[in-house]
Amino acid sequence: MKNIYTFLFLYITVISCSSVINENTELPNVIIILADDLGYADVGFNGSKDIKTPHIDDIAKNGVVFSEGYVSYPVCGPSRAGLITGRYQDTFGFGKNPLFTPKDPNMGLPLSEQTIADMLKLSNYKTFAVGKWHLGAHESLRPMKRGFDEFFGFLTGGHRYFPYEWDLEDETKVKSQNGAYRTKLLRNEQRIEEKEYLTDALSRESVNFIERNANNPFFIYLAYNAPHGPLQATEKYLNRFLEIESKNRRTYAAMVSAMDDGIGTIISKLKEKGIYDNTIVYFLSDNGGRLKGDSDNGELRGKKGNLFEGGVRVPFVMQWPGQIKGGQTFDKPVSSLDIFATSKAITSPEITPKNKLHGVNLIPFLKGEKKHSPHSNLFWRNNFMQNKNELRTEASAVRSEKFKFIKNKQVDALYNLKKEISEQTNLKDQEKEMYDSLKNEYKRWSKTLMDPIFLGLLANDQYNKLNPDRFKY
Ligand code: CA
Repeated sequence: MKNIYTFLFLYITVISCSSVINENTELPNVIIILADDLGYADVGFNGSKDIKTPHIDDIAKNGVVFSEGYVSYPVCGPSRAGLITGRYQDTFGFGKNPLFTPKDPNMGLPLSEQTIADMLKLSNYKTFAVGKWHLGAHESLRPMKRGFDEFFGFLTGGHRYFPYEWDLEDETKVKSQNGAYRTKLLRNEQRIEEKEYLTDALSRESVNFIERNANNPFFIYLAYNAPHGPLQATEKYLNRFLEIESKNRRTYAAMVSAMDDGIGTIISKLKEKGIYDNTIVYFLSDNGGRLKGDSDNGELRGKKGNLFEGGVRVPFVMQWPGQIKGGQTFDKPVSSLDIFATSKAITSPEITPKNKLHGVNLIPFLKGEKKHSPHSNLFWRNNFMQNKNELRTEASAVRSEKFKFIKNKQVDALYNLKKEISEQTNLKDQEKEMYDSLKNEYKRWSKTLMDPIFLGLLANDQYNKLNPDRFKY
């Protein structure tokens, strides 16, 4: 009799444990792959003729192209702050590109904010940040304090690509803003020796992480710095583009190609481990191309740093082969802010986020269950200085399903983006009601924002004057 009870007890234990395991294994893995300064037209799926991106194009083929996919800011740091919190970054004062100031706890993502990694940790995800961080170099703001179990990369807004140039042991050896591009890489909190071309190293580490974590749900935030400057590539990739005459364009193409190869190795590893169908992969850029003889935004007006489409509309695709039909083009406006909201809805529907999210769960739209536009409006505020004595002036933009209101140094305009992607014909007078309405929406929204809480990249000199001990250890 005793044996029967023991058997029943063991049986029930095994059943209940296995149901827990099943529940966990059903949670999809999430991988966000972020390119840096990649032009809208610099991927095959958006029509690039000279840069071949077969692996990124495969994501498009097996998933969804967001032809009107936006980021929340036209430069690196604030765009990343929006993506990683799922919130308009000006809501919490992240309205500037941070300087590299490892001694300053206020230069970066405020601790009041919950990251997507913090949220996924609540559902027992293993989390990994790879590549460029740019959300704060102070020890309290680094990836492993912001929800990541592991980190491999660098803290500032860019990095040189060849290991022989990483001649500064750590942050205490950095003596200028640009010096941070030369530090040794970090693995978790340790500086390491690395031998590979940076893009290849970031891909390798992502593949290794998948190899080690295929049996539990994981989240990878892979922030390549390619093809952000400096323009540097190895012969292996340069040799693929010998027909491109412009040296800048050729090097840029090679940098994109290295990233594309890396993405191929990641997708192959997912297949090898049998987790391809239940892994969500996003690929997007943090802002538009900078157009300095290298990148190409196609028909879009503007570039990195401004609120024309070329600054904020980016190459953007996602796949979830087990759940979302491939080969789709989704042509309503979506935002990088939606990635947090979508991930939360899928992985942690019962968890209330710490702060109000500004994105939308895209899955019902991609499954055809909802037909309307996910956002009634998307908003942008660009904070810049026209001269060194000025703290902040702003450019503004609002996108509805069809129209865009934009006010910046060049224009005060309304465009119909469904009719004209290139923002040329100002409909401000013809469509006065729409213009007024979007302008009022902007006013209402901007009341929810804060002024930037730290001095940005362009105020490097002012910061140094105010903080003479910045680089002293
Ligand atoms: Ca960028």
